[in-house]
Amino acid sequence: MNGYGGNILRVNLTTGKISKEPTPPDVARDFIGGRGFGAYFLFKEVPKGADPLGPENKLIISSGPFSGLMIPGAGKCDFTTKSPLTGGYASSSLGGLFTAELKYAGLDSIILEGISPKPVYLFIDDDKVDLRDASSLWGKGTISVEKEFKEKLGEEFQVATIGPGGENGVSFASINHDYGRQAGRGGVGTVMGVKKVKAIVVHGTKSISVADLAGYRQAGMALFKACKDAEGLKPWQDFGTTIVVSWCDEVGALPTRNFSAGSFEGGKTLYGPVMREQIVITDKGCFGCPSPCGKYSRMKRYNSNVEGPEYETIGMLGSNVGLSDIQDVAQANLLCDDLGIDTISAGSAIGWAMECYEKGILTQKDTGGIELKFGNVQAVFAMIEKIARREGLGALLAEGVKKASKKVGKGSEKFAIQVKGMEQSAYATHNATAMLLSYMTCDVGAHHNRAWAITYDLQVGRDKVVPEKVARVIWLQNFRPMFDVLGACRLQWVELSIDRELYVPALEAVTGVHRNWQDLEKVGDRIWNLTRLYWARENEGFGREWDMPAPRFYEEPPKTGVTAGQITKLEDVQKLLDMYYEQRGWTPNGLPAPTTLERLGLSALVA
Ligand code: SF4
Repeated sequence: MNGYGGNILRVNLTTGKISKEPTPPDVARDFIGGRGFGAYFLFKEVPKGADPLGPENKLIISSGPFSGLMIPGAGKCDFTTKSPLTGGYASSSLGGLFTAELKYAGLDSIILEGISPKPVYLFIDDDKVDLRDASSLWGKGTISVEKEFKEKLGEEFQVATIGPGGENGVSFASINHDYGRQAGRGGVGTVMGVKKVKAIVVHGTKSISVADLAGYRQAGMALFKACKDAEGLKPWQDFGTTIVVSWCDEVGALPTRNFSAGSFEGGKTLYGPVMREQIVITDKGCFGCPSPCGKYSRMKRYNSNVEGPEYETIGMLGSNVGLSDIQDVAQANLLCDDLGIDTISAGSAIGWAMECYEKGILTQKDTGGIELKFGNVQAVFAMIEKIARREGLGALLAEGVKKASKKVGKGSEKFAIQVKGMEQSAYATHNATAMLLSYMTCDVGAHHNRAWAITYDLQVGRDKVVPEKVARVIWLQNFRPMFDVLGACRLQWVELSIDRELYVPALEAVTGVHRNWQDLEKVGDRIWNLTRLYWARENEGFGREWDMPAPRFYEEPPKTGVTAGQITKLEDVQKLLDMYYEQRGWTPNGLPAPTTLERLGLSALVA
């Protein structure tokens, strides 16, 4: 098949059996690749009720038809599994250089099954594939492990590895690559850890066939030219995602002290230009990226370097825990990366624990003597270590804020900022109804990247609860994740505003199949509905209640900042859901109606 590696690599870790099978053409037709393949194989192959930490769960790693080709940012792959954090669908995207090598090794997906009896790493060098002993690597941080592999195997090998967080079963453990890129969310690293796979190392030299070489070159060049000519290129390259820190602070969206406010009095010292001036050494990008958003930074105070921090980390390990010094935030970022835990969930868990401490719900007896107050940088560093090693209070926080708050009780559930068990990423949504709905209905829990709708809130009127906002969220949810399906970065469209129509001839030239954006959005809709059904299949009683946001956003108006006194009323939250379900073709309890499944060609698959 043009545009594909052509093979699925299946690795049974229990038996050590490794096999390859051709990528099924009908799955490529209906789900295209990347996140689409992940959703399909998860639904089809992981049995109902499988324990996320048991041998029946699988970790599915998939590239898309653009991966490894000369298309802007075509270095993305998707990690899908049943989430140990949420009990539902997890899908996390990884950038960097890993995916291109995967494709050059002739692989569209790797499916890890079972549990290895001992620590191993998966070695792939074109057709040479085996499991190798990783006992000497177990317990080591991601950065030293990657360095060790590069020294041993050569720079041409790309490495995806877990850290102690994944080994110790932290529910939000990440998978790290290229010294600073992560598949961070939903516990994909936890599943890799429980399977005892320390790392995947890959190198390939094969060609990827394309249907129309001249057309591919022309369409690829047109995309790169559009990026090069984009007005937004310079600021994006200078600041990357940190470009929005100041904006979020000004509009009241910067999570502050466990989302109790959306503006941070110390925010200005976290802004992109301050970071650029104080700590950034150089820019760093993924495979084929014309607009590198990665910032490589030096923290003189700590004599250390890190890739980052990017916006989400600044929000969650900065303002959300009361830190205002960019070097401190960057060091917290480095600790999380090296220990292999998600910076967003870690920042949320620590922010929640700090609020518990300041309210007297947790005491020094619980914290092991740590003064767990907002703004205490040493407490943040200590808690990151404790979470990754599951020590003391860290063991509780390693479960995520939903489970931790249920155990602690005393009203702390109300300020556990999560949806479906996933900690909300870094946008405060007290009065931003489209963004709130985006979090409520996101397919993995409260994550921003499916539908980044907050700018639309400001455009339309932030407290408006109108059908257009709901339609916008649905459109974004169907459309934006398609970049994860195709295996390319969405940020050239989002940040450089390049015309999305430029991708259409590129996809046709690569695969030989003409699909316009309407066709692609239908695939996005299909995947969205399939994953919704997955949640319902795996969680008894799944429905509307699962889409409710943290009560903080409809009960507790911030006391400070530009959103002081503002919330979304509970009746408006319900109204948003009513409109969303109706527009999606779902029942009033939020489940896809049979006619919707029929329309999307899913009836047979889910029967
Ligand atoms: Fe990677 Fe950033 Fe470039 Fe996207 S914009 S491909 S995330 S470096």
